[in-house]
Amino acid sequence: MSELALLGGKKAKTKPFPLWPHFDDAERKALNDVLESRVWWRTPGTKTLEFEQAFARFHGSRHGIAVTNGTAALEVTVAALGIGQDDEVIVPDFTFVATASAVLFANALPVLVDVLPDTYCIDPKLVEAAITSRTKAIIAVHMGGHPADLDGLADLAKRKGVALIEDSSHAHASEWRSRRIGTYGVAGTFSFQSSKLMTAGEGGMIISNDDSFERNARSVHDCGRMPGEWFYSHFIYGSNYRLSEWQGAVLMAQLGRLDEQTRRRHQNARVLDRELSKIPGITPQKLDERCTRNGQYAYIFHVDKKDFAGISTERFIEAMNAEGIPNQASYPPLHELHMFRNGEYRKCLSEAAGKQEHRFLKDSFPNTRRAAWETVWIPQPALLGDEQDMHEIVAAIRKIQANARALAVQGTPVHAAR
Ligand SMILES: *Cc1c(COP(=O)(O)O)cnc(C)c1O
Repeated sequence: MSELALLGGKKAKTKPFPLWPHFDDAERKALNDVLESRVWWRTPGTKTLEFEQAFARFHGSRHGIAVTNGTAALEVTVAALGIGQDDEVIVPDFTFVATASAVLFANALPVLVDVLPDTYCIDPKLVEAAITSRTKAIIAVHMGGHPADLDGLADLAKRKGVALIEDSSHAHASEWRSRRIGTYGVAGTFSFQSSKLMTAGEGGMIISNDDSFERNARSVHDCGRMPGEWFYSHFIYGSNYRLSEWQGAVLMAQLGRLDEQTRRRHQNARVLDRELSKIPGITPQKLDERCTRNGQYAYIFHVDKKDFAGISTERFIEAMNAEGIPNQASYPPLHELHMFRNGEYRKCLSEAAGKQEHRFLKDSFPNTRRAAWETVWIPQPALLGDEQDMHEIVAAIRKIQANARALAVQGTPVHAAR
């Protein structure tokens, strides 16, 4: 077995992975068309309007509202549902900070619950246990593209009379029981930030099949205006969350590739599932049989360090990157973020709610901690490669396993204790 690249040996992978983002003459033409039209903003434009309708239709939804980013999509959704002071919204402990910060932005309390041990998506049983008379909504995150348990969550939301919001920032084109995600709840929110499955650098979207929700959300995203009314009449609180025509035009071109790219990522990920399951100590994120298509924002797998000479996750990631396999660490648990530990989040709440104990912060969140500190993410552009690329990923992991002792001996000290 040749020496590890991290220790001066040859890289396992030399053929480069596809570059991200993809673009071609479709994006060039789209940008030029906007340029020459001199209509660069949303309101009188046609490009963003056309894109939001096409994106909604693609996901089987009647309405689409394009917004500035995925965080904004959540903020507008929470505002449009009338969620505010002294309300609670249940969110997974394992997600990007925006899922919780959008709730705090509305002066409501994000109540954190643990995820399932295999799909890393929010656990419906724990959601049910966390519901109180103040709960107004549940935000599910389709982690890495894998849908949360939409049967369990939709049923629970209905029984309890709370809204289900699907944070689908990882899951463009993912399917649950052959139906695209985003409309199992009242709203699905998406991000088009650069790392996401389609991008205009930044951008976001809300889709919904609920007409009255759509009316509110569209108004919130456009300064509280109402369709057909005078430009300077503002009926409710809103802000400017509009997406520019540049971004709408680029995203329309990106949407044209989404289906084919999703198919490729889903298939490549199944090759990895099959091959990586054969390696002792590697456990891929589970594919629930009801997930009929996974958008695969990332390929997530757990590494048991016992099978890798005890090396840390950081050391494993370093060794993989050196071998030419892009990979990165996971999100930290939300409850461990500074703003939850130092109490800063309380400043967003009402005086009464800010003084309460928030017992969920004392929970141990074992599945989130394991997902956060022991899984490795291969970002989506690598999954746009061919089958050979997948076998080379597998070979690099086998190489690291075979040489793990050398990594352990020469290992730099692990970061400060958590
Ligand atoms: C990226 C992301 C967001 C926020 O999207 P931005 O466009 O970066 O604001 C929200 N939730 C999740 C799970 C994300 O990954």
